[in-house]
Amino acid sequence: MTRPARPRRLARLAAFLLLVLLPWPRPAAGQPAASAVPAPATANADGAALLASITALTAPGMDGRATGSDGNRKAQAWIEARLGALGVRPAGSAGYAVPFMFNRAGATVTGTNLVARCEGRRADAPYLVVSAHYDHLGIRNGQTYHGADDNASGVAMLLHVAARCTQTPFDHPLLLAFFDAEEAGLQGAQAFVKAPPVPAARLALNINFDMVSRSATREIFVAGPGRWPALRPILEPAVAQAPITVRFGHDTGGGQNDWTTQSDHGAFHAAGIPFVYFGVEDHPDYHKPSDTPEKIAPDFLGGVATVVLRVLDALDRASAYR
Ligand SMILES: [Zn+2]
Repeated sequence: MTRPARPRRLARLAAFLLLVLLPWPRPAAGQPAASAVPAPATANADGAALLASITALTAPGMDGRATGSDGNRKAQAWIEARLGALGVRPAGSAGYAVPFMFNRAGATVTGTNLVARCEGRRADAPYLVVSAHYDHLGIRNGQTYHGADDNASGVAMLLHVAARCTQTPFDHPLLLAFFDAEEAGLQGAQAFVKAPPVPAARLALNINFDMVSRSATREIFVAGPGRWPALRPILEPAVAQAPITVRFGHDTGGGQNDWTTQSDHGAFHAAGIPFVYFGVEDHPDYHKPSDTPEKIAPDFLGGVATVVLRVLDALDRASAYR
């Protein structure tokens, strides 16, 4: 995510001051918040497998995966090896890697998207672009910004979708896009939308994962229907009776709480392509060196994976998204 930090920090400070200044009695220590949902006793297998991917992408040597760094290239190699092992083919003829250039503070920087294709049962159907950015903030002032939730979690989810697609194909063909330089302002997604591997008219929808692994209240947001109302009747039945709490929102009104432009789906939306974005509410480790894998609950992650595949199946059965 590339959410503006300052207003959110101020909001947190204001909330803290409010709490400190609140009159007694305060809730007893250790008492759960009213909205907290108890975690299931056992973590499921999907959650454990997803967490293993997140751990690999935050291992020593990945160094926060900053665009242009050795750690970023190690992350690319790891993702490519996983795609190869799954038998997912590159979208273009020259391999998964699709380099692009962008300008950062007056200097030209090269980023690298990785794009794979998963064939659908209906060859004539338009493409669903499923995406997650793999870059993060790297090393700053000697501290590694691991980016376990942001966004190793989204990459793990995208690989989970790739695995599902190879086992049981969808009707629609998928493009699996691992974007670079999201943290530099959605650069990889913008490059993809400008020069897609298939004609732009065949891109029907973007489904984007960015920060999908952590929620103290076991909540995932699904944004998009606020901007693209035709999505709502497709999504609503798909998320009913989910193992975690699913909320629609964060997609209207502009400003800080509208996430429409705050991750890669923003580039698709700007190009007139509908989007479905999965993400969690901000947490204290957002864009901090402390965004590490051991803080992730595998059962929540597994719950998100269940919701993601149900939503993908519902979107796959539908034929119009606008
Ligand atoms: Zn971010």
